[in-house]
Amino acid sequence: LTYEEPGFRNTPTKQLVRAAVVLKLSSFDFLVKHADTLFKLGRSLLGGKLFGNLMTATFYGQFCPGQTYEDIHEATYAMREAGIIPLLAVPTEEDSKLAVGMDVESWYKENTRRTIECINIGSRFGIQGFPRFLQIKLTALIDQELCILLILLLIMLIMPEHPIHLLMRYLQEKLGQYVQLDMLSKEENLHLNESLARFEEICKHGSKCGVHLYVDAEYISINPALYLLSKAMLLRHNKTKPVLQVTIQAYLKSAKNETEKILKFCRDADIVFGAKIVRGAYLVAEKARAETQGYENPICNSLEATHDNYNEIVESLLRRISRNRNGKIHVMVASHNEDSVTRVVKRLHDFGIDHMRGDVVFAQLYGLSDHVTNWLGANNYPVYKSTPCGSVEETMPYLYRRAQENNRIIKGGKRDRTLINIELSKRLRQL
Ligand SMILES: Cc1cc2nc3c(=O)[nH]c(=O)nc-3n(C[C@H](O)[C@H](O)[C@H](O)COP(=O)(O)OP(=O)(O)OC[C@H]3O[C@@H](n4cnc5c(N)ncnc54)[C@H](O)[C@@H]3O)c2cc1C
Repeated sequence: LTYEEPGFRNTPTKQLVRAAVVLKLSSFDFLVKHADTLFKLGRSLLGGKLFGNLMTATFYGQFCPGQTYEDIHEATYAMREAGIIPLLAVPTEEDSKLAVGMDVESWYKENTRRTIECINIGSRFGIQGFPRFLQIKLTALIDQELCILLILLLIMLIMPEHPIHLLMRYLQEKLGQYVQLDMLSKEENLHLNESLARFEEICKHGSKCGVHLYVDAEYISINPALYLLSKAMLLRHNKTKPVLQVTIQAYLKSAKNETEKILKFCRDADIVFGAKIVRGAYLVAEKARAETQGYENPICNSLEATHDNYNEIVESLLRRISRNRNGKIHVMVASHNEDSVTRVVKRLHDFGIDHMRGDVVFAQLYGLSDHVTNWLGANNYPVYKSTPCGSVEETMPYLYRRAQENNRIIKGGKRDRTLINIELSKRLRQL
């Protein structure tokens, strides 16, 4: 597959010019590395309003359609016409709680409110017959330090009779009552209870509105706690539908093992498994942490090994879906990698999986690899655009991180830019 048709044929010229400029600028290391400083400088020089307009016309506009129902509706109208479904994401960055000067508990409450609002917005968009989704970051609801404490608790308890199950059952059964973990202080227990209540409120609301949730994977230092809390919620909400789904980072050496563990957990509990498979976004930070803290690098030894891991995990899930067509396994192929997407498209045919059923879906980020998304949409594959939903102030820290993590893709995969430039020159010749 070349993904050249429809390519950028239906993209308005104004958007194409913006994409060409923004993707080119995003390929400069200096700009990406110092994006937050440049953002603050720009805002103080131009003033909030003028700078906001400049961002909307450039970076923010390229990677985020806006924050209100009307903004999202307008920006995603053409997307939906092209068979592409918005996968809304609430842009919450850990460091933004310091920037907005809120007390910490209010920041978590505000994130919960924004997530509920996004579920409401997301429930009104979609394409008949395909599921609706929202991406959430659990560290927007629970303190990272508490996640680390929960992991310690897991490690200490892991020795006798599989207590991961005990702890999860405990969380599952006690939800709604006060959960008291002896190892935690009074304040930590209180925060844990408030966090669980927030998570539960979001899952319930998603389930009620028919918007299913993906929990993003983050750093390996917190992921086990994210899986633990997610598993407790899976037991509560995934009895018949994949209301909550996890994320597997294929750049981790442990990814296959993690996938098998969660599959087994769902099979044993007779609940629905759902996962978004990504390569992983924290490569540089994970390698650096492993070096400074002196443990084995958790990331695959080469990019090739990551690609193999990714393709093998997806293939094994597709194989299972083809064998047991009972709707108990769901997978999102969240990737811009043309080779991986092509393999999955081929495998769906080889395994005779009807892609209209919606248990295998694709996703790319808003503003990136639109040629791949457009091809999938034009050929009736369920395809989603991860679309952040927030104001310039709320979204910019999320966008720098995305720019930093995707800098290598933007630089390496020049396909977007090449195809955009071809389309622009075609239009110029027709003038
Ligand atoms: C819808 C969606 C949701 C996402 N959710 C998450 C999430 O929850 N958590 C998360 O961590 N990320 C998430 N991501 C980001 C994702 O992990 C990747 O950063 C991004 O999509 C690039 O991967 P790709 O599959 O598009 O691959 P490619 O375009 O092939 O890019 C692969 C990149 O992986 C890097 N890489 C990986 N392993 C190695 C290695 N061993 N050696 C060298 N380089 C390596 C390189 O930078 C390379 O450029 C999400 C992405 C999408 C589209």
